[in-house]
Amino acid sequence: MIKVVIAGTSGRMGQALLEGIFADSELQLHGALDRADSPRIGRDAGEQFGLATNVIISADVDKTLCGADVLVDFTRPEASMGYLTACEKAGVKLVLGTTGFSLEQKKQIEAAAERIGIVFAPNMSVGVTLLINLVQAAARVLADGYDVEIIEAHHRHKVDAPSGTALRLGEAAAEALSRDLQSCAVYGREGVTGERDANTIGFATVRGGDVVGDHTVLFAGIGERVELTHKASSRATFALGALRAAKYLADRKTGLFDMRDVLGLR
Ligand code: NAD
Repeated sequence: MIKVVIAGTSGRMGQALLEGIFADSELQLHGALDRADSPRIGRDAGEQFGLATNVIISADVDKTLCGADVLVDFTRPEASMGYLTACEKAGVKLVLGTTGFSLEQKKQIEAAAERIGIVFAPNMSVGVTLLINLVQAAARVLADGYDVEIIEAHHRHKVDAPSGTALRLGEAAAEALSRDLQSCAVYGREGVTGERDANTIGFATVRGGDVVGDHTVLFAGIGERVELTHKASSRATFALGALRAAKYLADRKTGLFDMRDVLGLR
């Protein structure tokens, strides 16, 4: 049995992760974390599913991580950086699904992976992981004369933009086109922008309602467009991917992995 701790237990992803763990005989819920001011602190983690698990939602990170194999974290960057340090200290592996990290924070995650095993992916779904490979294949073929644009849509509660997945798709396209996303990305347009620079990769963000997550990578040429689209209809897809990542880490002491490693797509 793999002993799993969840961070952000009362969040949308936290709930989807709990459901996934309760349905998986290889996984055991070892602990449940949330922010200290969450009204769910002190409640049984299974309460909303009608289960008595004896795992009490807590904000005591060190105590909760004691004896655990892996922490699955879908929270906020500032919280995740604290969890990262605690995991290093406790020798607990980490599945990191939070998005919106700065470059500096990403470097800290890379450094921590020298001491613990980490799966870090802005989108844990199998379909999006495949989409990254498809985008790279398309970008290599459509390298000349095609403009690359990435369009994403998410629910009204999402706090970062563009989505971590859109940025990851942009990185994948940029890598295949031998470009640096940092210097070629255009995040939204307004006013007199001038003609489009052929070397740019554009991003457009839509926010509204309960959209779980839509991503399209558009290659627009003369006389044709190629659109590669993924639509998530339930958070279960991310939760199941994250739990698969937790199992993948069971045999790996250290190293930074993404979902392509987990799914054997490299
Ligand atoms: P949510 O707002 O529903 O839940 C966030 C959880 O984090 C809550 O339980 C909240 O209490 C907790 N939290 C917030 N700030 C905290 C802090 N400072 N310390 C401790 N806990 C804190 O959000 P969500 O929709 O569940 O998404 C969470 C994160 O996961 C976001 O970054 C989102 O973009 C990302 N996400 C990633 C994937 C993926 O596949 N990698 C999929 C969906 C969402």
